[in-house]
Amino acid sequence: MTTAIHDHLKRALGVLRLSLTARCNLACRYCRPENQDPRTLLTHQQRLKLVGVAAQLGCRRLRLTGGEPLLAPGLVPLIQAVKALDLVEEVAITSNGVLLDRPQAHRLRQAGLDRITISLDGADPQAVRRMGGGNSFAQVVAAVGHAQAVGLPVKINMVVMAHGNGDQVVPMARLCRKLGVELRLIEYMDVGNRNGWQPQQVLTAAAMTARIARCWPLQPVGRQPGATARRWRYGDGGGFVSTIASISEPFCGDCNRLRVTADGVAYTCLFASQGTDLKPALDSRQPDAVLMRQLASLWWQRQDRYSEERALRSQQADPRRPSPAEMAYIGG
Ligand code: SAM
Ligand code: SF4
Repeated sequence: MTTAIHDHLKRALGVLRLSLTARCNLACRYCRPENQDPRTLLTHQQRLKLVGVAAQLGCRRLRLTGGEPLLAPGLVPLIQAVKALDLVEEVAITSNGVLLDRPQAHRLRQAGLDRITISLDGADPQAVRRMGGGNSFAQVVAAVGHAQAVGLPVKINMVVMAHGNGDQVVPMARLCRKLGVELRLIEYMDVGNRNGWQPQQVLTAAAMTARIARCWPLQPVGRQPGATARRWRYGDGGGFVSTIASISEPFCGDCNRLRVTADGVAYTCLFASQGTDLKPALDSRQPDAVLMRQLASLWWQRQDRYSEERALRSQQADPRRPSPAEMAYIGG
């Protein structure tokens, strides 16, 4: 039986973002992973139990993330098993694409993966290298093709740093139009401590879309309730582009995401410094009801609206905030 739960601000639980590893094969400038896994990772059974219980609390979508989820053993069997449970409507993955060759794309699709988001921060090899993506440009573009070839709907995430790859917004729009994928332009966020975030490094979504609109007219489509992205349609029929404007247009008001790290710590906000350890409740000797009670109580107590509060401080990070969790640990 499903019981939809709501938090203090009347926000339902809609999406579970489950990190499978904190390790990564890249070192993006805005993320800076420590490239180390926590000591105990959740087992296959614990991950399944978590998905099952979250679904009973109303969660309808699962996004697998990391670190780099394609580095995580057990990814394909996990997707298969979650699909077999038939409790969530969609299983998606966010990946840097480096390890996504054709056979892997095929395995993921066969397992039941519904969609993939691939991260790419520049439209040529030098730009990607500058952002910490090493020599991955050609591989990642090929990965987009592999995903498309096996029938996976693809979107491309690009994190934009004003003085890092701000010059790549228009070239990336051009590349994504050519590849036939929606580009999601993400404002650089103050997640974690290791990237040295400064507000001056943020290029706002409005500035990004203004640059694109000078080349191709854009028609606003808007933001779906609970979604992070605001979408635009290219006026010439060239598809869609979207922005995720956590800094300049926070969307905390309908945030429906629960984040769980690879070692089973739940975060109710991407910017939180403190999580809640679910591992004791995920122990196989504990009935599902124990985890259900813990998750429900965590969600009921949820009051997080960090991005809105940051906006009230004129987009400055809170100097008194305890160390926030790192992006590659919490999973984005
Ligand atoms: N490794 C995978 C990838 O890069 O797609 C999945 C994990 S990554 C942490 C998830 C998403 O978070 C990626 O799209 C990445 O670009 C984004 N991200 C990481 N650090 C960010 C930051 N400081 N601000 C905005 N987005 C960020
Ligand atoms: Fe790795 Fe993704 Fe972080 Fe880049 S954003 S370093 S690919 S985890």
